[in-house]
Amino acid sequence: MRQSTGSMLCPNCRKLISVDEPRCPYCGTMRPGLWGFGPWLSSLFGGKLDLVVILMGTCVLLFAFSIALDPAAALRPANPLDILSPSSRALYRLGMTGGWASAAGAWWTILTAIYLHGGPLHILFNVMWIRDLGRAAEDVFGPARFFVVWTAAGAGGFVLSNLVGMYSADGPSPTIGASGSIFGLLGAMIAHSRRRRSTLGSGVSRQMIQWAVLLFIFGFMMRGVNNLAHLGGFATGFLFGRMLPGAAERREGRTMQITAILLVTATLVAFVLTIIRGSIAFGR
Ligand SMILES: [Zn+2]
Repeated sequence: MRQSTGSMLCPNCRKLISVDEPRCPYCGTMRPGLWGFGPWLSSLFGGKLDLVVILMGTCVLLFAFSIALDPAAALRPANPLDILSPSSRALYRLGMTGGWASAAGAWWTILTAIYLHGGPLHILFNVMWIRDLGRAAEDVFGPARFFVVWTAAGAGGFVLSNLVGMYSADGPSPTIGASGSIFGLLGAMIAHSRRRRSTLGSGVSRQMIQWAVLLFIFGFMMRGVNNLAHLGGFATGFLFGRMLPGAAERREGRTMQITAILLVTATLVAFVLTIIRGSIAFGR
């Protein structure tokens, strides 16, 4: 993980420099080697990590796990349409947000719920969106910014739906899914291509706006869809798309890479807290 001697490429100007340089002699970037952790960060975000595949894999793995936690409920459901859908109990134990989690003050579930899904179609659609839209957004923004948008939009969607839910008689509804993050990616892509105003950009933008509108309408037509999370995710993503430069405009800097690493860590910590809290509340 740590490389304390030898040379590396400056993360800012890409010139060959020494890892232990206090500042880049060419562009003046402070601590380009980041006390030896710089090269590791650069390789992670320079193609060593395939974030899209990791996100898809995490969703699929957790879906399988949520069924395995309570197989009877998923394999012999009361309603035949719910076949292969994990039970609420299993989903709460893995980090569903709203409902019991909100009542218990488990606010970190706004991060864990992003990776959970309620049924085969829910996960199939979302994984397909991650594969296509996720890859496109990663190309446009770069992997670190992509993960920041993904996480902020997913969490932003759940914050909105949980907050609004607090004013309803029943409290926030239990909710899960990567849809808020996916809407956030759409929002970010639309904001980005509108800001760039290129001919290609406007075509991409039109296509994305069509998808967003269709998905919103689709959400209102189906039961049990958290439209507020879609809206909150889209708004958050749009805001980030306005602020963040694209990969072609500016290379991802250390600050963005470290922010992404901190968000990965926060998500992992949220899963650990959920497992501890769940085993206290629901037994082993
Ligand atoms: Zn430099």
